Amino acid sequence: MQELTHFIDGAMTKGTSGRFSDVFNPATGEVQAKLPIATPAETNDVVERAAKAQPAWGATNPQKRARVMMAMVGLMHRDMDKLAEALSREHGKTIPDAKGDLQRGLEVIEYCIGAPQLLKGEYTDSAGPGIDLYSMRQPLGVVAAIMPFNFPAMMPLWHVAPALACGNSVVLKPSERDPSVPLMLAELFVEAGLPAGCFQVVNGDKEAVDALLDNETIAGVSFVGSTPIAQYIYSRATANGKRAQCFGGAKNHMIVMPDADLDQAADALMGAGFGAAGERCMAISVAVPVGEETADRLIEKLIPRIEKLRVAPYTDGDDVDFGPVVTAEAKARILKLIDSGVEQGAKLVVDNRDFSLQGYENGFFVGPHLFDHVTPDMDIYKQEIFGPVLSTVRAKTYEEAIGLAMDHEYGNGTAIYTRDGDTARDFAHRINIGMVGINVPIPVPLAYHTFGGWKKSMFGDLNQHGPDSFKFYSRTKTVTARWPSGIKEGGEFNFKAMD
Ligand code: NAD
Repeated sequence: MQELTHFIDGAMTKGTSGRFSDVFNPATGEVQAKLPIATPAETNDVVERAAKAQPAWGATNPQKRARVMMAMVGLMHRDMDKLAEALSREHGKTIPDAKGDLQRGLEVIEYCIGAPQLLKGEYTDSAGPGIDLYSMRQPLGVVAAIMPFNFPAMMPLWHVAPALACGNSVVLKPSERDPSVPLMLAELFVEAGLPAGCFQVVNGDKEAVDALLDNETIAGVSFVGSTPIAQYIYSRATANGKRAQCFGGAKNHMIVMPDADLDQAADALMGAGFGAAGERCMAISVAVPVGEETADRLIEKLIPRIEKLRVAPYTDGDDVDFGPVVTAEAKARILKLIDSGVEQGAKLVVDNRDFSLQGYENGFFVGPHLFDHVTPDMDIYKQEIFGPVLSTVRAKTYEEAIGLAMDHEYGNGTAIYTRDGDTARDFAHRINIGMVGINVPIPVPLAYHTFGGWKKSMFGDLNQHGPDSFKFYSRTKTVTARWPSGIKEGGEFNFKAMD
């Protein structure tokens, strides 16, 4: 059995707690590795080491820091296949999906190559007599990133890359479910020229997280995961005086207007609803067709498409649509929610509750499901399912449809399918949700914009990646400078004036 490690001061380092958690291969259900779970003392030691490394890195000029990012881009391309394989083996997603996960992380590293430009301060010449004003952006010191299982490359990179580019040291606490790729990325950063100690990886659970939240050296905390934990981490980190940005769960609606291209909308729902087994915070989990006729036609188009989806392990080739969910607990939770939908009166029009894959009976596979006639009081509507389950809520009017999305407690992403510019524009302006797609099902902004939800999908104010990330991982210092002048009118120098 493979024993995984932490990554401390530039080297894979064994845990000393004697406590381990199981890392599964979700396709087979087998335990494939043991992950050391750090004690608070181990975690605090790692923070101290990160603090030792930070001053020299923070004083390194931004162009040199950017060169580490440039080298990292090359190394990730070199190791892409190896990284994708390790990612799929622990997460279960297909290889093209794993490469997408890595690619979206890579794009943020590319953005960080602009650090010298992005960290430039502002300058006001002659703000008063002989007085100049200027600002500079300085690193926070040591920051912590606590990350979820569903994008084990992208999520850590969205935080680690800008944090490092700004001159911080980072302590990353990856998900216990799929920690291998974060460890490999940490090793690659050192190969790219990052001084040892600036990027530490500590594996653990609540104990390690709480130690990070209470450690006085940690100046900033970034969290991505489920909403109850995001809320908890935000309160504890900010109560301890830290800067925090905590991103939570989602329930993303797609409004389908009667004038939409329904084939396009149905095709889009295949990837957006079922891709990565629905384990994406930007997955569409609710379709809201407007009008009975739109609903009937949409359902008619969805059923054959869903029946064609190929659910299989990532090793079965690139035409697999999605693989297993991450754990046996996740599978049981999803199936229980599906049962609750049936009990509460929704119509399960594609029912795969007895799905099983020959040769992989112990894997955590869940077949695709489609519900019709879902209503807002049902658990399948209120809760984030995070599985391959699409719910349809029929709305009579556009107002009713937009109202549903606006009243939901989550506000990560949403989409509208329509041919009408007026409706689309009204939707984009009025909706109280952070990321909006117009005939685009998963509107994940590119690296040079920012990513973040509203309502219970985000706690804090600065988003992930783009300009916000450089603001989050640096702080402004403003200098007001006055130099006594010895220059008299006419250019003659008056040394007396300098006394
Ligand atoms: P999770 O909340 O279970 O775990 C996230 C992290 O928190 C892990 O590192 C875990 O070890 C730690 N953790 C778990 N319980 C804790 C506790 N009681 N105290 C302290 N730390 C704890 O989330 P997950 O299942 O890994 O990820 C899926 C969730 O992440 C979904 O809700 C999804 O929507 C969300 N997500 C959100 C975004 C976003 O940008 N909004 C992006 C990706 C995923």
